[in-house]
Amino acid sequence: MPTAKKILITGGAGFIGSHLAEKLLKAGEEVFVIDDLSTGNLKNIAHLKNDKNFHFIKGTIIDARKVEKLVKKADQVYHLAAAVGVKRIIDKPLESFLLNIRGTEIILDAAAKYKVPLLFTSTSEVYGKNDKLPFSEESDRIYGSAYHSRWGYAMSKGGDEFLSLAYYREKGLPVVIVRLFNVIGPRQTGVYGMVAPRFIQQALAGKPITVYGDGYQTRCFACVCDVTDALIKLMSHPKAVGNIFNLGSEEEISIKELAQKVKRMTGSNSKIVFIPYDKAYGRDFDDMAHRRPDLSKIKKLINYQPRVNLEQSLLKIIKYYSPR
Ligand code: UDP
Repeated sequence: MPTAKKILITGGAGFIGSHLAEKLLKAGEEVFVIDDLSTGNLKNIAHLKNDKNFHFIKGTIIDARKVEKLVKKADQVYHLAAAVGVKRIIDKPLESFLLNIRGTEIILDAAAKYKVPLLFTSTSEVYGKNDKLPFSEESDRIYGSAYHSRWGYAMSKGGDEFLSLAYYREKGLPVVIVRLFNVIGPRQTGVYGMVAPRFIQQALAGKPITVYGDGYQTRCFACVCDVTDALIKLMSHPKAVGNIFNLGSEEEISIKELAQKVKRMTGSNSKIVFIPYDKAYGRDFDDMAHRRPDLSKIKKLINYQPRVNLEQSLLKIIKYYSPR
C-alpha cells in the first residue's frame, strides 16, 4: 500500500476546507488543518476528530513560525484560508485585506523554502466588472473605485495570484491557482452574505427571502462535492503546475429565479422581497451583474464535468438546514 501523504489545509474548518479534509481522509491521506476559526467552525470538522489521521491546529496563517513548522512536514499544501464573503470584506476591510495578502505570502514563503507543492484557491471575483462572458483564465480584470470596499477582496486575491506565480517563476515553487465560482453545499453559512444558505434558511423559517437589487443579476452555482474532487485532481496533475484554472458550473440562474426555486423546493410561504443594494450593503456597493466561467481549460486537463446540478445541490443544503 502506498504510504499516506501528509496534507496541510489552511482554512480546513471552513465550508470548502472541511469537505476537502473529509475527502482526503477517505482517500487514506493524513490531514493537518490550521484554522483560526474566524469564519471556520469546529462543528464542520467534529465528525473527523476521532480519525487518527486527522489533526486540527487552531492558529492563524499570519503566525509565520507555526506555519513554517506545519509546511515543513507536509507533502502538499491546500491554501484555502482567507477572509471570505462580500459582507465580511465590506465590514472588515483592513483585517480582510491584510489576512489575504500577508497570510498568503507567509504560506508561499514557507512552501517555497521546503519545495512543498501548493494549491491556492482564488476567486471568480478577480474578473470584477468585466462584462464579456464567459470568463476565461485570460480574461481582463476590471475593478471599480478603491472607495468601494468590495473590490478589496478581488484586489487581495488578485495580488495573491501574482505572488503565487512569482514564487513559481522565481523560486521554483510548484503552484496551482484555482478560481472558484460560487461554490455551494452543506455547511456553508449565510452569516457572511452567501446567497444560497441565506435563501434556504429564510424559506425554511418562513421569513422574507431577500433578493438584493432587481434580482436580474446571474450566477452559476457549483456543488462543493464536484469542486473538491477537482481540487484533488489538479493538485496531483503535473501539467497543472504554474497554471490558473476556473472551477465551477456553467448552469446560470438569476438571483430572482433562485429565490423562486428555493421557495418552491422548500414549499415555503415566505414572501420574496427586493432590497436595494445600498440598504443591503451600505452606500458604496457595486455588484457584478453576471458571472459565468469558461471551463474549457479544466475540462481538457482533468476531464472535469460537474456531476451534481443546481437543484441537487440545493436539495443537499435544504436537507442540511431542515430540522431533524
Ligand atoms: N444576494 C441576494 N440576497 C442575499 C445575499 C446575496 O440577493 O441575501 C445576491 C448578491 O447581491 C449577489 C448574489 O446574490 O448578486 C450572489 O451573492 P453571494 O454573496 O452569494 O456571492 P457573490 O457572487 O456576490 O460573490
